[in-house]
Amino acid sequence: MSDKPSPAPSTGAAVANCLFCKIAAGQIPSRKVYEDEQIFAFHDINPWAPVHFLMIPKAHINSMAQLGPEHEALIGRMMALAPRLALEQGCRPYPEGGFRIVTNTGAEGGQEVHHLHLHVMGGPRPWLRG
Ligand code: AMP
Ligand code: ZN
Repeated sequence: MSDKPSPAPSTGAAVANCLFCKIAAGQIPSRKVYEDEQIFAFHDINPWAPVHFLMIPKAHINSMAQLGPEHEALIGRMMALAPRLALEQGCRPYPEGGFRIVTNTGAEGGQEVHHLHLHVMGGPRPWLRG
């Protein structure tokens, strides 16, 4: 994976060469976990854990670094939805089970695909990574 950040726009409309914009639009196949008008979730192609899916806003945002007050409701919805999807995908309930949410941001944050995404990982240990 070596998607480069798109110069503009950093938020909003779909970006032509963005892998996750194409996945959200159904132009590239994925194993869908969830979809509504704002949010799309799909299984990571290279899972680190027994459960590993990604949650993205359908509107393109490069990363967490671009977030502002206008995104509070969207990010809040994503975070509030994650526990339900984690359970539906096979994570055991808290506190014995649970899950991990990771959002890599920027090169030093380990971000490879520059469309904001939450990694949601869980399931029995050991995991491949994490
Ligand atoms: P990051 O390093 O945080 O940018 O994570 C990008 C994630 O996207 C990695 O975990 C990849 O395995 C995952 N990924 C890349 N291409 C695809 C794809 N076509 N479908 C599903 N997941 C993908
Ligand atoms: Zn995108």
